[in-house]
Amino acid sequence: MIVTHKKDPGIVKKYASDARRVIIVGCSECAAVCRTGGSEQVKEMAEIFSDREVLATISIESPCDKRVSARDFKRLEEELSRADALIALTCGSGAQAIAEVTGKRVVAALDTDFLGMVERLGRFFERCSHCGECLLNETAMLCPVTLCPKGVRNGPCEGIKGSRCEVYEDRDCVWYTIYRRLEERGELDLFTVYHEPVDWSVCHSPREAIWERS
Ligand code: SF4
Ligand code: SF4
Repeated sequence: MIVTHKKDPGIVKKYASDARRVIIVGCSECAAVCRTGGSEQVKEMAEIFSDREVLATISIESPCDKRVSARDFKRLEEELSRADALIALTCGSGAQAIAEVTGKRVVAALDTDFLGMVERLGRFFERCSHCGECLLNETAMLCPVTLCPKGVRNGPCEGIKGSRCEVYEDRDCVWYTIYRRLEERGELDLFTVYHEPVDWSVCHSPREAIWERS
């Protein structure tokens, strides 16, 4: 799930300062779970823009999916034609998809943080930095790229203090924990596997995944 947090409403209004007619767009998937772009937050944003004409509010199931956004905006053709700006309570991918689908000016109302593992509502944890060359099969399902503050792919680094991380002294070094888990599983041979540096010649933004139709 994509974790987001709200921008300061004053900043959002600043970027929409010359928009007299707006449409508020929420996301009923990730941003709703984060309570940043669900129906409640869409209502709140409509209140914040009560000094303008709010032409419509809409919650899109997956605004980052251009097919879904295009389908849902079909219901708002008339409002869209009159809107000066759309206020997007979505992740950055959703905001850009909305801009591409509608051709309208979009103001981002959220900041996008990370791909999160959900423990429960209000407790989200970064566990994958989508590096494109996954190590998990060799690291006992612990991602050093994300859990090590330096992203060390072959650890531990020289700074390790006993079992503790040199950066976060209240935490164990992830490579220490990987070692322990592999030991418990009888898979310590995996600890000596050398992980090549990420090949930045192929693993750089913007990435694309395009399937050939069969
Ligand atoms: S190694 Fe870590 S960052 Fe890379 S794909 Fe696997 S879980 Fe994600
Ligand atoms: S001590 Fe371990 S977790 Fe901390 S920076 Fe070094 S390798 Fe990374």
